[in-house]
Amino acid sequence: MHATIDTLKQDVFERNGGEPEFHQAVAEVLDSLAPVLEQHPEYLDEDLIRRLCEPERQIIFRVPWRDDSGNAHINRGYRVEFNSALGPYKGGLRFHPSVNLGIVKFLGFEQIFKNALTGLPIGGGKGGANFDPRGRSDSDIMNFCQSFMTELYRHIGEYTDVPAGDIGVGTREIGYMFGQYKRIRNRFEAGVFTGKGLTWGGSLVRTEATGYGTIFFAREQLATRGENLDGKRVSVSGSGNVAIYAIEKAQQLGARVVTASDSTGCIYDPDGIDLELLKQVKLTERGRIGDYADRRGRQVEYRSNIADVWQVPVDVALPCATQNELDENAARALIANGVQVVAEGANMPCTPRAATMFRDSSQVLFGPAKAVNSGGVATSALEMQQNASRDAWSFEYTEARLDEIMVDVHERCRSTAATYGHPDDYVLGANIAGFTKVVDAMIAQGLV
Ligand code: GLU
Repeated sequence: MHATIDTLKQDVFERNGGEPEFHQAVAEVLDSLAPVLEQHPEYLDEDLIRRLCEPERQIIFRVPWRDDSGNAHINRGYRVEFNSALGPYKGGLRFHPSVNLGIVKFLGFEQIFKNALTGLPIGGGKGGANFDPRGRSDSDIMNFCQSFMTELYRHIGEYTDVPAGDIGVGTREIGYMFGQYKRIRNRFEAGVFTGKGLTWGGSLVRTEATGYGTIFFAREQLATRGENLDGKRVSVSGSGNVAIYAIEKAQQLGARVVTASDSTGCIYDPDGIDLELLKQVKLTERGRIGDYADRRGRQVEYRSNIADVWQVPVDVALPCATQNELDENAARALIANGVQVVAEGANMPCTPRAATMFRDSSQVLFGPAKAVNSGGVATSALEMQQNASRDAWSFEYTEARLDEIMVDVHERCRSTAATYGHPDDYVLGANIAGFTKVVDAMIAQGLV
């Protein structure tokens, strides 16, 4: 079976040259499949696995726009509509200079299984642009979003493809894109986007959902060892939406979160992060993490080397910044310092070697992104439910639904992994549970 998987992997790599992140994501899933393919040889029929690795549709487009000084710019926009076996394509848009087709495909591929794990009826997709929003004025951002949507509008819809945010895309950007969609289509089609503002179809808890869900998942992991977050030391990387709300929920559950970072550096705050100050600096002022250190006072250590965040001894480590941010050196330090739980709040933040080290260590419970951070997209699906029924749920009810979903995702990973004899192997459980659900639906829908 390994020979078959290796052949399939090689084939996908050759068909998708120059896309290392996509190769990494595909290898991680296919490497888990040997035990399933042994029990279900039908999953090798009809070229099913190659079909799964080939996006249903890939859209690449020009995004011309003009900045405040009158200069013209051209960026490249993407939407990869990867798999619609379980529902309309669903996944965020990322605006970051690193965005290219391979990155969007890795994210879209992960999204298929993540969305399947939530148990909700959503397919997988992802998009974005190689646009750098940093330092751009509000009107530059609006001009860019309107131009981006002037092309993307023709490809999306509440029954077709439903984008949301990701790195560089929050409520402000979704507002500008939704506004342009509405203007072009002359339809207030709330369900075409998630992550909307609360007065125009957004859902309570959507902003907090990825971070909160990450903590609910880590809480469940600790519970398998009879432990909880109260009094635990936690390190978090990042200081965007995922990191900030992971810190918030971890603190609510009694943990002491001692680190945060951004692309310019990281901080170690031994007394515990002052969340109001962090929100002020990063969300309100869109400033740098060094500003937090300057204002918080002497006891905070600032380092320009972002990876130093993993040198701090902690019980729980939550990489919530970006892909491949935690490498084998970081993993070695975390394990040596006694880490018990590593849960991926960002998408694919651990390098393959780091992930293997965590999986191989009996001391560590390692939660992979597609399970751990699925609370964000799950709450997007709850937003779609509210839009479809023209309803708006309370914060308490929506958070309780999110919590139930995360408990279910955790249970689905563990029970699937247990079926194959490794109950603590969340990577195996997440990949097999996600894969099985999607390919069973693909088989039922025929060769399409
Ligand atoms: N960008 C988020 C993710 O990586 C959320 C996507 C969504 O809500 O559609 O899952």
